[in-house]
Formats: sequence, structure tokens, C-alpha cells
Amino acid sequence: MPSSSIGILGAGIVGLSTALHLQKAGYQVTLIDKELPGMGVSFGNAGLFADYACLPFSTFAMMRKMPAMLMDKNSPLSMQGSYLPSLMPYGWGFFKACFTQNYEQGKAALKTLQAVARQSDQTLLDLTDGHHLIKSQGCLGLFSTEESFAAGQRGDLQERREQGVNLEFLSAEQVRELEPDLSGFHVGGVFYPDTRFTISPIELSRCYAQHFIANGGVILQDEVQALLPGDTEVVVRLSEKVFKYEQVVVCAGVASKAILAPLGVKVPLVSERGYHLTLDTGAKSLSRPVGWLDKSVFLTPMDGGVRLAGTAEFAAVDAPLNPERTDVMLEHARVMLGDDPRIKSTWVGSRPSTPDSLPIIGPLAQHPRITVGFGHGHLGLTLGAITGKLITESIQGREGSVDLKPFSAARFS
Ligand SMILES: Cc1cc2nc3c(=O)[nH]c(=O)nc-3n(C[C@H](O)[C@H](O)[C@H](O)COP(=O)(O)OP(=O)(O)OC[C@H]3O[C@@H](n4cnc5c(N)ncnc54)[C@H](O)[C@@H]3O)c2cc1C
Repeated sequence: MPSSSIGILGAGIVGLSTALHLQKAGYQVTLIDKELPGMGVSFGNAGLFADYACLPFSTFAMMRKMPAMLMDKNSPLSMQGSYLPSLMPYGWGFFKACFTQNYEQGKAALKTLQAVARQSDQTLLDLTDGHHLIKSQGCLGLFSTEESFAAGQRGDLQERREQGVNLEFLSAEQVRELEPDLSGFHVGGVFYPDTRFTISPIELSRCYAQHFIANGGVILQDEVQALLPGDTEVVVRLSEKVFKYEQVVVCAGVASKAILAPLGVKVPLVSERGYHLTLDTGAKSLSRPVGWLDKSVFLTPMDGGVRLAGTAEFAAVDAPLNPERTDVMLEHARVMLGDDPRIKSTWVGSRPSTPDSLPIIGPLAQHPRITVGFGHGHLGLTLGAITGKLITESIQGREGSVDLKPFSAARFS
């Protein structure tokens, strides 16, 4: 059994999953987070284990649409003007990722992760007894016009089918049979029968944290000020104390960029904020997540209400919540439900997003005692467990289940 001590920065879904995999492999693991586990962006997601998501966002078609979307207050895309300078390296990386060869490589890389992601989730859910937090009812993506449905069938959905994703096209009537409480806003859509979702992202994080502690793991609640890598250990400076670990793993979500910059590691990571509203939908209920794909919003039935999630707002992490964003989303929910749901709570958080839609996973070439796992953008819940497994294999020096080269931080240098 290994005896090395490992410090993990960040107890979001990625850090927690990594902690469990490393602990299971026999390491002494400490998680460090300034908040309670799971209270970062992992708190607020739409809850989908989006196994169908193997296509990068970076395409020239998307780039062409962006200016009009940014001008349209009702579109899912928005940007805080003062955030523009921070977006420059990201924008350049996005442009490069659109070229066919790069897009195809990104697509293949995402597929390699997705191919083993479900098994890794299963490992953690079995280990932590977390199955009660997961539902397997599939997921729906609906269209409101025949044109957009046909375009989807020719485009993204066809591409996914060619990648081997299990999906079915459903008519409006077939959708009504599955979700009778939806309004008639749609003309049908796509059904992913294998997709699962969690009824509570925060309870899933807590479940992972409790198992970790029960099995000897340590969680420190403090803010990491600096990392000082040496030949035999890495010094982690917190607000008042200093700790030393043989290995450190950085899973600090969107904050990872600032933590690594003083070490000369530059990554074009940005804050792509998403919102959610918890809705009281009265007598209306849903059995599974339902997306309105033309508007990029999802309704997920969760503990405590239906979660309405969406929006890609490029803005500073600490910018105030923009009520225009939630107004637009709420209007979409009204149309989807044919009703006026009551808002129970509102939330905003920053997805840690990379230009090529691929996470950053693996050891740092310049600092071999530091390994990273961040940049999961829209897919951190989906790819958290497999990230933890890959990081563990890498630290063990074993051949990985997936080639980590496409995910290396060095791809941006
Ligand atoms: C609206 C919305 C919907 C989404 N829907 C989905 C979905 O359906 N499926 C899916 O797979 N993904 C979804 N995502 C994306 C997913 O939530 C994220 O990719 C994922 O949560 C990222 O996890 P993380 O652990 O990297 O980051 P985080 O959860 O943010 O964790 C990072 C942690 O690091 C800590 N930290 C940062 N700096 C420091 C420091 N200096 N010292 C100590 N601690 C520090 C933070 O406190 C935080 O807890 C969605 C996101 C949003 C916003």
C-alpha cells in the first residue's frame, strides 16, 4: 500500500471524487477548501450525468452565431463588458479549436472519457452508498420548431449517433406520454434513455465527503494562499498555517488558474457563469430532466423543487447576479410548463471553462509533484469520477485507462 500524503485543493465534485479514488488506492488524503464541500459551482448544476455530451462547443458555426447572440438579451449567451480582456486568450484558443482537425481530436478525446465515465461513477456510488441520490429515467431535449428539430437531426444529433450515443427521436405525442405536465411548446425532440441524473448535487457531494471522513480522510476548511513545490514535497500555505504533502492535486475549479499562475503555469481558463432557479411547480411534475434546446435551458426534478438551469454568461466570478438572466430563464420555464411557477431560490456560479471544451487533467511537466484536475466546463458532474480515477492512476505511475495527452495543461503553451 502507498504511504504518500496527498493534499487536494478544492472539495467540489472533482476534488471529492479524486479524494475517494486516491483514498481507495491507499493514500493518506487531505482535502482543503475555503467553503464546505460541494458549495462551489458543484452546488448548482442541472444534475445530469450527460453521457451523450461528446461534442466540443468550438465550431465555426457557433462562432458565427455569437455576435448576434451577444446582442440579443433573450439569448442564452451574454458577457460582462469589463470581463472582455480576460477572455482574449480563451477567444484565441476557441478560434484555434474550431479548425476541423482540432475539433475532431477534441471530439475523439471527449469520447474516450465518456466511454469510461459511467463505470467510474458506479465505483463511487457503490463505495459511498450514494445510489438513492441518482435516478435513471433518461433525459429529453426538445425543440420548438420543425426547422430546429430537423437541423438537430441532421447536425449535432446525427453526429452523436455516429459516435455511438444511444438516442431516439420522439414525436410531440411520444413526449407527452413521457411528460404529460409539459405544455405543447415543442414539436418533439431527442430522448437519451441511458442518461441518469441526481436529485441533489449537494447531497451527492456531502455523501462523498462523509464517506471520505469516515474512512480516515481529513477535510481542512481554509483558503489556499500559495503552493511552493520542492524536490521532495509541496508546501501549501493556508491563511495562518502551512502544510506539506508529497503530492498535491489542484481541483479548485475556476480558481485553479490564479493558484497556478505564480508557478508559471498559464491556462486560458474562464468563468462561464450559469444560473439556476428552484421552482415550486405546484401540481405539475416531471419524471426526468427536460431541456428546451432552442433556448438552452433545462428543468430537472430535484429534491425541494424543479431546478431551472442554464445560461452561459462570461463574467467575473464575483460579479453581481444579473436579474435579466433569470427573467429570461423564468419566461422559458413558463412557456415549457404552461404555468407560472413560484421562485423558491436563485443561484449563480462559475463553470471553469476551457476554449476547447476539454478538461485539464494530469501531472504538470514543470512541477512533477503537482497534478491537476479542473476545467470541466459544462461537464464536471459527468466527468468528475473518471477524472479522479485518471489522477489516481497517474500518481500511482500506472498506465491510465485513458490517454491523458489531449487533456494536458501543456496543450495551451
Ligand atoms: C447552471 C449550471 C448547470 C450545470 N449542469 C451540469 C450538468 O447537468 N452536468 C454536468 O456534468 N455539469 C454541469 N455543470 C458544470 C458542473 O457543475 C461543473 O463543471 C463542476 O461542478 C465543476 O466542479 P469542480 O469541482 O471543478 O469546481 P467547484 O465545485 O467550483 O469546486 C472547486 C472548489 O475549490 C474551492 N477553492 C477555490 N479556490 C480555493 C482556495 N484558494 N482555497 C481553498 N479552496 C478553494 C472552492 O471553494 C470550491 O469548493 C453545470 C454548471 C452550471 C453553472
